[in-house]
Amino acid sequence: MSLSHTPSAGDPASGALRLPSTGGLVDRLDRPMRDLRISVTDRCNFRCVYCMPRDVFGRDYAFLDRDELLSFEEIERIARVAVAHGVRKLRLTGGEPLLRRGIEDLIARLAALRTPAGDRVEIALTTNGSALAVKARSLKDAGLDRLTVSIDSLDDHLFQRMNDVRFPVARVLDGVHAAHEAGLGPIKLNMVVKRGLNDHEIETMAAHFKGSPYTLRFIEYMDVGTSNGWSLDEVVPSSEIIERIDTLFPLEQLSPTAVGETAKRWRYRDGTGEIGLISSVTNAFCGTCNRARISTEGRLFTCLFATEGHDLRALLRGGADDARLAAAMASIWTARDDRYSEERAALTPELRAARQRIEMSYIGG
Ligand code: SAM
Ligand code: SF4
Ligand code: SF4
Repeated sequence: MSLSHTPSAGDPASGALRLPSTGGLVDRLDRPMRDLRISVTDRCNFRCVYCMPRDVFGRDYAFLDRDELLSFEEIERIARVAVAHGVRKLRLTGGEPLLRRGIEDLIARLAALRTPAGDRVEIALTTNGSALAVKARSLKDAGLDRLTVSIDSLDDHLFQRMNDVRFPVARVLDGVHAAHEAGLGPIKLNMVVKRGLNDHEIETMAAHFKGSPYTLRFIEYMDVGTSNGWSLDEVVPSSEIIERIDTLFPLEQLSPTAVGETAKRWRYRDGTGEIGLISSVTNAFCGTCNRARISTEGRLFTCLFATEGHDLRALLRGGADDARLAAAMASIWTARDDRYSEERAALTPELRAARQRIEMSYIGG
């Protein structure tokens, strides 16, 4: 660990934008740490039925207090050390990240970070789009690169039923449009497909966004957390989605652009764009998973399905310097052997239920 060799860079108060490389980390399955997903709030203004069902996340639900959340300074420090360890993409998520006051300030801080070679790090954000029409310009100005907007249906009645707060789909579409106008891009649209709920919208969604500036991605409904009552029968396999779209609009598969890419890419043969399929259930991609996640209160999780995180906030608030933080991160990542999605098929429903998994709204996508 060489961070302490450069005193100014290792001094948290120095605000150094670049730390020397720590040589990159690999876990026990030889996977590097490239992507850090940072949850900036556990709160959300939606109650999507597959993520924050109202009967669990109701009035009495105990969300984190403000002083429990990582501050922007703390997030920046973790991100800076992660970048020295090889992270090249930072994704802000939640809960709903646009609910976190001053999110633009955090984006600006992260956008100023530099890799050991002096390059920028890619800054991405996943949002439900509800505040995008208002915030698109300021997000772009702050330095946001990539944007993913969740949109599960174009049928307003169904969309409102799925977000369970009567939020109209037209306002999300206005937000997507505003983001495009502001020059944010590439913009991806995520549709979680749940059988019997919105799977009849697959073709409509494909037809609507075909030829648009946006890439639509279909996500298999996952057993994240325990509150959504997941069952395998409700998963629509990506292979079925491809077959259904291909019947209407012939498709061909594209090769991946980067190692660790979560979505399999397909292109319309008539040249009107592409779609993505995220098949976490039927075609797990743990073998190349290079994603680490930081929860809102500073726990480092090495898998979306992990049962426990590692408390980096305690280190930060206990006065640890960057070298100590880097050493902690290194020992966590190098011990990592998570591959839940590959193991899922072998688990009985009882074993799955017994495993206390974290909620998606707590850790982000
Ligand atoms: N609130 C933001 C949003 O909805 O985009 C960011 C956080 S949300 C937890 C991140 C992504 O996870 C969203 O695209 C959402 O649709 C997806 N998601 C939530 N629960 C899921 C589940 N059970 N299976 C698959 N995707 C899920
Ligand atoms: Fe909120 Fe996103 Fe979860 Fe929907 S998917 S409840 S918008 S965190
Ligand atoms: Fe990565 Fe865990 Fe998902 Fe596998 S199950 S792809 S290890 S987050």
